[in-house]
Amino acid sequence: MTQTTPSDKALVPFVSVDHMMQLIHHIGVEEMMRGLADYIEADFRRWELFDKTPRVASHSEKGVIELMPTSDGDVYGFKYVNGHPSNTKAGLQTVTAFGLLADVASGYPVLLSEMTMLTAMRTAAVSALVARTLAPKGSKTMAMIGNGAQSEFQSLAMKAILGLEEVRLYDVDRAATEKCAANLAQSGLRVTKCTSAEEAMLGAEIITTCTADKQYATILTDNMVGAGVHINAIGGDCPGKTELAPAILHRADIFVEYPEQTRVEGEIQQLAPDHPVTEFWEVITGKRPGRTSDKQITLFDSVGFATEDFSALRYVRDRIQDTGFYHPLDLLADPDDPRDLYGMLQRAKS
Ligand code: NAD
Repeated sequence: MTQTTPSDKALVPFVSVDHMMQLIHHIGVEEMMRGLADYIEADFRRWELFDKTPRVASHSEKGVIELMPTSDGDVYGFKYVNGHPSNTKAGLQTVTAFGLLADVASGYPVLLSEMTMLTAMRTAAVSALVARTLAPKGSKTMAMIGNGAQSEFQSLAMKAILGLEEVRLYDVDRAATEKCAANLAQSGLRVTKCTSAEEAMLGAEIITTCTADKQYATILTDNMVGAGVHINAIGGDCPGKTELAPAILHRADIFVEYPEQTRVEGEIQQLAPDHPVTEFWEVITGKRPGRTSDKQITLFDSVGFATEDFSALRYVRDRIQDTGFYHPLDLLADPDDPRDLYGMLQRAKS
């Protein structure tokens, strides 16, 4: 990243929700998912140079607010994100987010962006990138359990990145399934509405669980999961919030983003702290094997990690350059004499 120059340093590009939606349509949803997956994969390949820490979580009875920082030495980034499963009852989103990139050399912010849309896009891109690596070759059908805000994005990323042809939807709330099916009607995916998780899983090589409930839920029981499938477990991402019966975890080979965070937040919080897992970056870089047999159950215990948001923000920063899809934001005080901050305040009075 180039350092900010005196003439432009005071104005930080801000990508609003409206501009993010325009950017996504300008690029195309599926094209952008492929682009995000490329950036995310590139950063997984240089995993070892990132400054990594489990996200900082502030828990309450209703949900969690988290800060997710990281740096590659040149650029620093963080995301603010919440998770409030009961929000939808009040007409609010379960997950909202915004994030920032900064120049490490000066400490000056260089991008501020909405990240509610971007999180849905990046979470889906990560799911599909991992599934392309671990799911049975030629997978065409996915069970999508939990048909809320993330579900269309998850389905479309699997189509764009993996070549998925059919998605089988199930949600405890039929209205969510109807919404998801309607939104995907023109997507080119074959969409089947199901009345149980078991029905959704018929013939599916990939099973995505993406539900929201602040408890140890059992979206999948052990007897529901046959040999050879890939499970993409998205919704268990907080202490005391999981989706899978522990017996499934014992039959599966488990792949995670950053173990220090996933052991606290992911499905594997239900297992012993030393239960073996593979870090996804190790598979991407060829250090460790991914899927090794047709019978193997591969499980991506997704919780969402800071580098993925960093990659997504990098992508947005690169793609907004030639578009008008941002506002220059007066975020930084910028006195002519950097030590005369007070003088600047006084001049503002007149
Ligand atoms: P949402 O509230 O919009 O949708 C959740 C859906 O799950 C709802 O439609 C609800 O009816 C359904 N559901 C609840 N219990 C169910 C059950 N037992 N069986 C079937 N369906 C059930 O939430 P969202 O924004 O789509 O997010 C879904 C989950 O994904 C949340 O838990 C969120 O925290 C998590 N998430 C994870 C990541 C990640 O990186 N891993 C990123 C974003 C969101």
